[in-house]
Parts: sequence; structure tokens; C-alpha cells
Amino acid sequence: MQLYNTLTRRKDEFVTNEPGKVKMYTCGPTVYHYAHIGNLRSYIMEDVLEKYFRYSGYDVTRVMNITDVGHLSSDADTGEDKMLKGARREKKTVMEIAKFYTDAFFADCEKLNIKTPDVVAPATTCIDEFIKVIEVLIEKGYAYEAGGNIYFDTSKLEQYYVFNDFREEDLEVGVREGVEEDGNKRNKADFVLWFTKSKFDDQELKWDSPWGVGYPGWHIECSCISMKHLGDTLDIHCGGIDNAFPHHTNEIAQSEAYIGHKWCNYWFHVHHLNTNSGKMSKSSGEFLTVSLLESKGYNPLVYRLFCLQSHYRKSLVFSYENLDNAVAAYNKIVARIASLLKAEQGEIDKAAFDSLKAGFCAALDNDLNTSLSVTAVYDVLKADTTPATKIALINDFDYVLGLDLVKAAQAALDAESAQNTSDDPFVQEIEAKIAERADAKKNKDYARADAIRAELLEKGVVLVDTKEGTTYKIEK
Ligand code: AMP
Ligand code: ZN
Repeated sequence: MQLYNTLTRRKDEFVTNEPGKVKMYTCGPTVYHYAHIGNLRSYIMEDVLEKYFRYSGYDVTRVMNITDVGHLSSDADTGEDKMLKGARREKKTVMEIAKFYTDAFFADCEKLNIKTPDVVAPATTCIDEFIKVIEVLIEKGYAYEAGGNIYFDTSKLEQYYVFNDFREEDLEVGVREGVEEDGNKRNKADFVLWFTKSKFDDQELKWDSPWGVGYPGWHIECSCISMKHLGDTLDIHCGGIDNAFPHHTNEIAQSEAYIGHKWCNYWFHVHHLNTNSGKMSKSSGEFLTVSLLESKGYNPLVYRLFCLQSHYRKSLVFSYENLDNAVAAYNKIVARIASLLKAEQGEIDKAAFDSLKAGFCAALDNDLNTSLSVTAVYDVLKADTTPATKIALINDFDYVLGLDLVKAAQAALDAESAQNTSDDPFVQEIEAKIAERADAKKNKDYARADAIRAELLEKGVVLVDTKEGTTYKIEK
């Protein structure tokens, strides 16, 4: 499989440290508000990646943190803790907010068929690990105390800006524009590992540490949680593109300084979901949620299809018009599967199965081209093969796509037959006879089948055999 790697800035062949095993880490949500559908775009694409690894035969261990402390309103260590902001907004405690929005996040994930990672670790449960790693960083000369806080010293690294060509001068006018300067930092790019004296007075959650009572910075949590559960090497690290700098850059700095060797080989970044007015973000007022889409009558899996229809490395513009196109596409696929389910199934054609599956894999092997993997579903529907082969293929692909296609088609058929069920005893008799005749035909008892047809005709009922089954007309 070829995957674009932000670290090398090209598509690389995906090779794991240990054959057959993938160690995967995902930056989890900051649980001070609902996840918006932009956040969920990242989690949908990461879910497809994880499932495609599993589909390809890898044994995957995936770890995700829950950020419930330390993520300040600016990624550059300034502003207030987002959790505290959420707690104030809702007049609740930080822990109440964290529990509520963590549950809401997983409820959204379930609706979108996003699998829960093997390990989910809230930052507040790993404080001892953070302290241990920070102590080692101080011991090794990579961290220093200033103004009561502990900072990572980026000047101790040969190369700090690993992902891009940011230069300090650019950062001054660009990324950190309007951000107050922290006079404690030795270098502009240095970042906080542990807050004590500053930004601490009204912090609700704080812990004892060798440097005084305080709380961890945001970046340290992902390094520590990953190393705690996956060891000191990682195959692939995922997140939205905004996390590449400074969050992931800082994660690499502190992890590699701590372990003394390369930490993670592949960096998978999902580009943003935007609206016509710009990037969707939790902090800038109105944002769209899964519940909002549901309240407008959208099936959350249609949003998943909407995401799959474009490449994860392109920004995607959300509009209801675009979502409606995804609804039409979803309904069309489901309707075609429903008619396949009604047809005579036939045998599975192994050669056709293998060749259509190869098309699906080729799409995903090429830097997770989900849009072409959806096209592979259309190729199946159009193919000249048996319904049994098509249904088997769609079920197989759906392990990765997570669109519940066959389930939705079956539900549509069930709804249709429930609607057709009548209280009229005459209609019930006709339907029972049609079912009996279908059984007779299946058992090659054509004499009985013809007798039922004649019997019904006498009562004015004309049977009509179609590809989708038998219907009837009542003659006056
Ligand atoms: P947060 O809850 O803010 O920590 O973000 C959770 C995840 O969503 C991170 O991986 C972010 O990079 C990602 N993210 C944030 N905004 C967007 C967006 N508009 N589109 C896609 N992903 C996003
Ligand atoms: Zn992270």
C-alpha cells in the first residue's frame, strides 16, 4: 500500500516495524463541546484507514487519547484551558463536561460506524506517566524550568521543524500572530510541558508534581499515552492537518528526545472540512453536528459516504446541496442492492469476485483513494455476474466502507413488505397462495403451481410473474 507521509512529503510504501502488525495512534477529541462534522471527517477517514489495514490482514492496535486537560485556546500555550471554558459556559465541573462530551463523541462515532479504538485513554488518567517523562527530559537537558513552568527547549534538537519549512520569523507574523509573548521561553518555538505558576490560578484540575501543583501541557499527553500503550516505536500517527504544527511537531520533539531514536514512521493527516465561509471550528461559534444533520432528516451514514467520495488530502466544502447529492447516490446504490436481493441469487462466481475485489483494493492501495473505492461498488452493480457474487462483494467492501449498504437494502425491503401486508382476508389468502406457489416452483412441482394459478383465476385474480417476484391483478 502506498500512503502519503507528511514526514517525507511523498507517497511511501507502507511497511510496518513488525511484519503483519500495525501500531496506530490517533489524536482524540478535546471534550469541551460536541464534535463537529469537520472533526468527524478526520475520524471517518482514520476509521477507513484502520479498517483497510485490518481488511488487508494486519493485526492493528489503535490507541486514542481523550483531551480532558491542558489544551489551551491557542495551540501556542496561551489563552485559557478549553475544558475550563466549556465548564464555565455550562456551569458544570470540568469532569462533568468531559464525561458528557466524551459520551456524545462516541455516540456520534457509533452513528457513523466509526469503530472505537482498542485503547481510549483520557489524559487525566495518565498524569504519573507525564511527570515521569518530563523528569527524564529535564535530566537529559531537553527541558528547563522558567517562571515556575517546565518548557521543552527546541534549540537542543538538530531539527525541530520536521514537517515543513516554517521559520521562526514566519511564525512571528504568521501562526502566532496576535498571541501574547511568553517571556519565560528561551526560544520562540519552546513549548510548555507542565504548567505551575502561570495560567493556573483558576484551573479546576491540578496535580502535585516535583515542580509544584499544576497540570500538563497538551502535547505531552499524546507522546506519553502512545508510548505507554504502544511502546517506543509507532508505525502510524493520525490527526487533522491543523495538528501537524505545532502539536505533532512537538510530539516528535519530546518523544524522540525521551527515547533517543526515531519514534513514528508515517504521519497521516486529514485535510479540513470547510463551509463556504471558511474552516469549521469548535471555537468560532456555529458548527454542524451529527445530531443537527439527523434533525434535518439525514442518515449519518450519508455523511460518511459524502466524506468517502473525496480524497482525505483535499479540503472538502460542506453544503446541504452537496450532501443531498450524497443522499441521492446512497439511495440509488441501496435500491439497486434491494433488487439484487429480490432476484434469484445463483452461485458465487469466484473469478468475478476476485477481479472486482482487486479493483477495490487497487483504489485503497493508492493512498487510500476512497472515492475510487466507492466507484468500485458501482462497478460491482454493473458487472455481468450473479446477484450472489455482487452481494458477497458489497458485504466484503462494506467492512471497510462502513455504509451498511446491504443492511439498508434489506431494511427497505422489509419496510416495503410490511406496507404490503394487508388486513383484508382476501388479500391475505392471495398472498398465502402466491407464497405456496413460489415454494411449489422451487420444488419443481409445476402441476401444483399451475393449479394455484388456475384456482386464483377462478376467483378473478390474475398472477403476473416478474423478475422481482410474483404480483397480481384483480379482475372486475
Ligand atoms: P479537537 O477536538 O479540536 O482536538 O480536534 C479533533 C480532531 O479534529 C483533530 O484531529 C483535528 O485536527 C481535527 N479537526 C479539527 N477541525 C477540523 C476540520 N474542520 N476538518 C477536519 N478535521 C478537523
Ligand atoms: Zn495528539
